[in-house]
Amino acid sequence: MSEYEAVIGLEVHAQLKTASKLFCSCPAVFGGEPNEQVCEVCAGLPGALPRLNEKAVELAVKAGLAMNCAINNYSLFARKNYFYPDLPDGYQTSQFAPPVCENGYLEFSHEGETKRVGITRIHMENDAGKCLHVRGATLLDLNRAGTPLIEIVSEPDLRGAEEAAEFMRQVHAILVCIGATDGNMEEGSLRCDANVSLRPVGSGVYGVRTETKNLNSFRNVQKAVDYEIARQKARLDDGGAIVQETRLFDAARQVTLAMRSKEDAHDYRYFPNPDLPPVIVDPAKIEEWRAQLPELPAPRARRFVESFGLTEEDAAILVSDKAAADYFEAAVALFPQGRRIAALMRAELLRECEAAGLRADEAKFAPAELAELAGLIDGGEISARTAHEIFPELFAHGGSPASFVRERGLSQISDAGELEAVVDAVLAENPDEAAACKGGKTRLLSFFVGKVMARTGGKANPALVNSLLRARLEEGQSTET
Ligand code: ADP
Ligand code: MG
Ligand code: ZN
Repeated sequence: MSEYEAVIGLEVHAQLKTASKLFCSCPAVFGGEPNEQVCEVCAGLPGALPRLNEKAVELAVKAGLAMNCAINNYSLFARKNYFYPDLPDGYQTSQFAPPVCENGYLEFSHEGETKRVGITRIHMENDAGKCLHVRGATLLDLNRAGTPLIEIVSEPDLRGAEEAAEFMRQVHAILVCIGATDGNMEEGSLRCDANVSLRPVGSGVYGVRTETKNLNSFRNVQKAVDYEIARQKARLDDGGAIVQETRLFDAARQVTLAMRSKEDAHDYRYFPNPDLPPVIVDPAKIEEWRAQLPELPAPRARRFVESFGLTEEDAAILVSDKAAADYFEAAVALFPQGRRIAALMRAELLRECEAAGLRADEAKFAPAELAELAGLIDGGEISARTAHEIFPELFAHGGSPASFVRERGLSQISDAGELEAVVDAVLAENPDEAAACKGGKTRLLSFFVGKVMARTGGKANPALVNSLLRARLEEGQSTET
């Protein structure tokens, strides 16, 4: 048995967030009644002429700029010939050489190290329709046909399944951040093919790869790559060879299955599409688009760590979702305790958002209200525990947490005199435990904290109760000795 190194390259397909399709004015929206969003161009009728959607070019170029690519002023659309029942043209209209963007890279931190993954190219292409298999018949829905995609091809720079999934997360965060895609993976807006091979550790040449198609979640990327690494390893250890082939991931069974042997590029007989002129992008336009780019996730995470004292983990989670990061900034501007805001967002807001299927900016509970809630906790008005208990209701209706706490009488008791009376009563009612505690059984302290909490309906300020109890019990000790 030899030691192997995994080599992985991803081809990520992202649906661009344009109003209309890539080569016609049909709406590019998900769903709809079958074949309602179809014209002669996207149905591939003979003689129909495609016209390029400028917005798609803008989004592809922005993706290239965000991923440190060189932008080609001149690129071409080609016909990539193959037969598929839901591809009515008989070819996919895709960019071969030159593509609109090439030679970029993405940098991200993974397991404490900075990882750089080369981006070979980003090109535009149209999506196919869908086959629906109904009661023994195959029906065609061409609504998706002609929807604009970019394909982002990475260099084979990834070395593990977790790293591949992390790369996919980074691509997702960037594309959503710049508005290139809606990033809805359940609807297929972002999916990828994973190329995986193994080679002996130390070897300078790549092994034979397989390509597992259409992975539509971060988890499936990781599972499919993991499975493929294990499968190839077992085969090589048995003295077998890896066949270059296209595979499918069966998510239910968590395995990859052979689909077909892999075509080489020449099998597609790529040639420039005579119906489309070259794509010429004015350098001034590129600069205009560059200036429109928002702050990207990676530098934003660094700023969150440096300016607000967040942990790397908190920062990474917030910037992976632009709406969450914007929400954080709005809240922290009003209550400048970054860690408190981040903790509340992770423990409460984002959890509720996820359960409700909402983005942070769609929540009724606004950043100003979260800032106010953070202030109530930091000011000792309520405990983090009370905040947790009332959060679902605050989230459902929005509104001022301070008023909510006042109306429900949930304010913490932070009055030392009032609490001292409760502490004394509780000690007097439990003389045996009090004596044991004074005698050194400090574990019993939490017993008394619990009693005080129960008596005050959970509203006593726990830090204050603790210090009052300790003071009383130490008093007792000094009189004894
Ligand atoms: P295609 O899949 O269309 O034939 P390429 O041959 O350019 O395209 O490769 C596509 C992807 O496969 C790229 O992401 C590349 O990094 C990756 N890749 C190429 N060779 C290997 C290999 N030996 N092992 C793993 N990935 C590879
Ligand atoms: Mg491929
Ligand atoms: Zn159309």
